[in-house]
Amino acid sequence: MALTKNRILKNLQQIRQNIAGACRAARRSEKDVSIVAVTKSGQLDAVKALLEAGVTDVAESRAQILAERAEAINAWIARRRSDQPLTPRWHMVGTLQRNKVRKVLPFVQVVHSVDSLRLAEEINARAEKDEKTVDILLQVNCTEEPQKSGCAVGAALHMAELAITLKSVRLVGLMTIGPTEGGPEGARAAFVRLRELFEEIRSQKIGGPAFKHLSMGMSDDYPLAVAEGATMLRIGRALFAQ
Ligand SMILES: *Cc1c(COP(=O)(O)O)cnc(C)c1O
Repeated sequence: MALTKNRILKNLQQIRQNIAGACRAARRSEKDVSIVAVTKSGQLDAVKALLEAGVTDVAESRAQILAERAEAINAWIARRRSDQPLTPRWHMVGTLQRNKVRKVLPFVQVVHSVDSLRLAEEINARAEKDEKTVDILLQVNCTEEPQKSGCAVGAALHMAELAITLKSVRLVGLMTIGPTEGGPEGARAAFVRLRELFEEIRSQKIGGPAFKHLSMGMSDDYPLAVAEGATMLRIGRALFAQ
C-alpha cells in the first residue's frame, strides 16, 4: 500500500521534534542541522509529499536510481500547477563508481561519498564540462571495518589538501557511516572521530569557510549525531516508515 501523505508528515514532525530536542540538549541551533531525505526506501509519491512539505534536500545511494528519480521529479514539477516553487537539491550518498559519475552529474548538487582523489578528479572533470560546481564531502571509514567504503582516517587530511586544488568541485565537509554493530556507543565513537578529523582539517584552514559540514547520522542514530555536531542527517527509513 502506498504511504499516505499524512503518515509522511507525521514521521517528519516526529523527526523534527527529535532533532529539536537533541539541539537543545547540545546547545546547538536547529538552523545548523538539515535533513537529507534518503528516498531509496520510499515511493515516488512519498518523495513528492516530502518536497511539498518543504524537505528539499533529497538523496539516493545508487547512481542509476538517482538519475531516474530526479528526472521523474523534474517532469512532475514541470507539470505541476502551483504557486509554490519547488527546487529539489539531489545528494548522492552511496558508493559512486567513476564510470557512473557521468550518469548522475546532470542531476546532482552534492556528492557525500567521495572516497578517493581519483573520484574527486572525475567529478571535477565532468563538472567542468557541464560548467557547474559540485559540492563534495570526503567519506571517511571511521570504524575501520574492512568491508566499509570511505578513505582511511589517516589519509583524509592529505586528500582534503589535494581536493581543494580542483576548480569545479567545492569541498564542503566530511561524511561517515556509523558501524554496523556496536550500538549507540559504537556510533558515537565514529561520530566523535569524524568531528575531530573535521576540526583538525579546519584548523589548518583547508577548504576555508565552505568547509563546514559533517554528514553523519541515519534513522537509528541521528539524535546522537546531532549531539556530536552533525550538520546533515541522512534519514531514510524513519521518514518512510508505515
Ligand atoms: C540508505 C542510506 C541512508 C539512510 O539510512 P536509513 O537507515 O534508512 O535512515 C543514509 N546514508 C547512506 C549512505 C545510505 O545508503
